[in-house]
Amino acid sequence: MSARPVPPRIAYSAFSLDRASHTRRDVQALAAAERAPSTRVVPVWRGLNLIVPGATPVAVALAGEVAQTALAAAPEKVFLGADDKGAWFAADIGQNPLSDLAGVLAGAPAGAAFQELRTASALMVGTEAALLACARGLVHWHGASRFCGACGQPTEFRDGGHARRCTDKRCARDHSPRTDPAVIMLLTRPAPPGHPGQARCLLARQAHWPEALYSALAGFVEPGESLEAAVAREVLEEVGLSLAQVTYRASQPWPFPSSLMLGFRAEAADEEIRRDDRELADARWFTRAELKTLPGEDLKLSRSDSIARFLIEEWLAEVG
Ligand SMILES: [Zn+2]
Repeated sequence: MSARPVPPRIAYSAFSLDRASHTRRDVQALAAAERAPSTRVVPVWRGLNLIVPGATPVAVALAGEVAQTALAAAPEKVFLGADDKGAWFAADIGQNPLSDLAGVLAGAPAGAAFQELRTASALMVGTEAALLACARGLVHWHGASRFCGACGQPTEFRDGGHARRCTDKRCARDHSPRTDPAVIMLLTRPAPPGHPGQARCLLARQAHWPEALYSALAGFVEPGESLEAAVAREVLEEVGLSLAQVTYRASQPWPFPSSLMLGFRAEAADEEIRRDDRELADARWFTRAELKTLPGEDLKLSRSDSIARFLIEEWLAEVG
């Protein structure tokens, strides 16, 4: 797979802190960082992030006294990393009802409210959306990992929140934050010789999606499966097509709750769609000219900060 620079318009991919992983096991350094006046805190409350709504929603980073108030309300503090001013933590304050968090909310900017990240992120500054996504993803993992999957005993917080360990001494299994890989692929066909402008890409829609929304095919990678095999299997299952070529393009963290979307261009070996109607309500080939003119009430494309849209726009910018 060829590496590419991170395209900035893919949401959640512009994480800007130094993850400073060497600090995670340094208990004294973490304790000092928690108390430092320069420390910033990203609060997470029951899966929601603290955001100031507006034309450009703003991620709230608590500082100073209010940061300490939020840390005091969080039984576990996850070390996110550092910038040139100091350390950043995520504080899971979801054990508290909002009525008990007046000290945190009063210290936040006016209008700030706990909100679902997906509803705000498209209009946010990319680095802020990525920071909130990371905080949300790690806090979710802790909430879902309180008990050992091997023996069922409680686990304990370790390494600044980047590990948990089973408290049963005979088991003592270490658990790490999980990321589940999913593949998303833009299926294409080149223009036949002598037919310029007839290259096509395949977009599909699932029945439960918003009206007229079409996107690239996607699916989870299965255990023991390579990414290339997952792309080929999903395409065969969903539209009955074999592939001539698969090329990696870019990726998108997708912390809802714990995925990584790996984006591919996949060239189909033929064109006859045999759609799986349990998975898809429709699947169609589109030329570049159609995708540039059709979008409107009858055809809507994935949101502008999604990796699906990145794959589509990248293909649209080419010739053929
Ligand atoms: Zn265990």
